[in-house]
Amino acid sequence: MRRRLIVGNWKMHKTATQAAVLVRRLAALVPKNSRAEVVLAPPFTTLYIASQPAWRRFALAAQNMYWEDEGRFTGEVSAPMLKALGCRYIILGHSERRKHFGETDADINRKILAALRHDLRPVLCVGESLSERSRGLTARVVTRQLLRGLDGVPKEAARAVTIAYEPIWAIGKNHPASPAQTTDAHATLRAALVKKWGRAATEQIRILYGGSVTADNAGSFLASPEVDGVLVGGACLDPKSFARIIAAAQSGRE
Ligand code: PEP
Repeated sequence: MRRRLIVGNWKMHKTATQAAVLVRRLAALVPKNSRAEVVLAPPFTTLYIASQPAWRRFALAAQNMYWEDEGRFTGEVSAPMLKALGCRYIILGHSERRKHFGETDADINRKILAALRHDLRPVLCVGESLSERSRGLTARVVTRQLLRGLDGVPKEAARAVTIAYEPIWAIGKNHPASPAQTTDAHATLRAALVKKWGRAATEQIRILYGGSVTADNAGSFLASPEVDGVLVGGACLDPKSFARIIAAAQSGRE
């Protein structure tokens, strides 16, 4: 059985001082031996404080990285640097990076390969726009993003990969996908993974849903056997809401 995974994507929010307060509050609300794995993805400028005690019960992710290890790449951050700060996961291919920073599937693929080389676990985000959905292209779009993002990743590395289905039209909109739409997309993604790597190699890959997840609706997504966790944006900035989402993931699975 796949352990549920709850990821909080802070985006470009919180100074290091504000982050310390948020995590202290969150740690007070979340039981120490949470059955779900909880990952915090704060901005780069906050990662250095994550060795403090309140953070230790959470795993750490960065929200982006560059694919080279070091060099003349002003403003970029590499996988070994993130690893040295204690990151276990790396969110890659978020639709905001695709849209605002022009990231292509080829860029994302290079980042995924670099992350895996350095033992960072990529969380690959895929998702369709509203116009793609209304034209019946959802399955085609998410499968293409998935396969291009994972191009060249060997079967042996499959278990280090997590996928997040994040329909663009549902992100930050207070308008989540329905559990049925989510279940459909997740089934499409899992079928593509099985076709690529086989059932045994993909058994442990978690597929998360992201897009306007709140404390009130998280349970409805997590009730689907296709949904192995959630990627949360806005609601993770409020410790009480995020703690309720984590609590919703406590039931049902080991
Ligand atoms: C996200 O940023 O990945 C996200 C899902 O945001 P929100 O929960 O705010 O829709």
